[in-house]
Amino acid sequence: MKPVLRAEQVSHAVAALLRPEEVTGARLPADEAAGQLDRWRSRLPPASLSLPGGGMDNCPAACSRPEAADTGFEIWLELVEECNLDCLFCYNPWRGRSTPADGAARTLPLQRTVEVLGIICDTVSVSHLTVSGGEPLMYPDLPSLVSRISPAIPSIGITTNGRSGTRTRLEALKSSGVGRLSVPVHSHSPLTHDHLANGRSWHAAVRCLALAQETGYQTTMSAVVTGTNGTHVPRVAEIALLLGIPRLVLNCFHSTGQGLAHDRRLALPAGRFGDIVRDIRDTFGDRLEITVGSPEEHAASDAPMAPAQGGVSRVSRLVLSPQGEIKFCNQSETGLLNVLECGDSRLRALLDELAAGQYDRALASIDNCTCRAAPVVSKAV
Ligand code: SF4
Repeated sequence: MKPVLRAEQVSHAVAALLRPEEVTGARLPADEAAGQLDRWRSRLPPASLSLPGGGMDNCPAACSRPEAADTGFEIWLELVEECNLDCLFCYNPWRGRSTPADGAARTLPLQRTVEVLGIICDTVSVSHLTVSGGEPLMYPDLPSLVSRISPAIPSIGITTNGRSGTRTRLEALKSSGVGRLSVPVHSHSPLTHDHLANGRSWHAAVRCLALAQETGYQTTMSAVVTGTNGTHVPRVAEIALLLGIPRLVLNCFHSTGQGLAHDRRLALPAGRFGDIVRDIRDTFGDRLEITVGSPEEHAASDAPMAPAQGGVSRVSRLVLSPQGEIKFCNQSETGLLNVLECGDSRLRALLDELAAGQYDRALASIDNCTCRAAPVVSKAV
């Protein structure tokens, strides 16, 4: 009887198939790697094709989606500033600036996070919550936090770079109430992925996705598309298919956060991202749900974005940042109030405003959003 792979071995079979020249040590013949992956996929629990609220990734284009009034707010819980990678394109606004005066990366305190999410869920309708960072798996005792918030939230997902995604941790998070998991793979070439992520992580990312599939998560693969890896996107889609993952989220590189320092190398020519998305949907659209998370930049601007410039009249995303800011775009530095500094009455007043459909103050508080005015590119398959 032929051996069946475990998730921990899957990345080596994928690399042997798609990038044999980068495989070191004993090389697995391509036909054997394909056969092993076929058998591994055949044993996966049935994967769901439905995604609550649209894509899993950072999705500014969806921030003002009109159906928000019916489906509720999506919450992005940015738990920690810290990350175990240092991606060249990282959009986090605290990247690319000096560390805090005390040198300590900020982490949301568990008790205050539970209190704030409780107030949010009591006041506005919430469709789903995504835990991010930084790297959310670096948050101390994440399962304990999730098990305390999960009763009030319909769907909880995590977006992680996968480096710390062991079988034990993924099983603990699943038991605590996490149902969705998203991991980026930027290339079929481990060398290119690791270059963009600024650290060795390709094998860990693929292993984490394989573990998520074995553990029964709704799994999504994502990629940031830059001038370096634009031609690799079809092979990234092949990885998703090899792992039995039905969803791929493509994010256009934006020159913000840490990406500002690498703009010349990573920026795509105007229109190129749209071409890539069209081509990939033409080729894979019948087998993969391909979603645009972060669309092409509308207009580079260092100036604060006035609502009228964006042509947007509502918000549907609430971000709680590691600094305690309630903000309305992940790229923004500040929001309307800070939950570590203000009392609950101010938080309730803001949420009442949003629940009543009054978005002007929220929109005016957005200090950075590189794609706010871009046309929403929705799923076309
Ligand atoms: S993009 Fe994500 S994985 Fe990369 S440095 Fe930023 S937080 Fe870490």
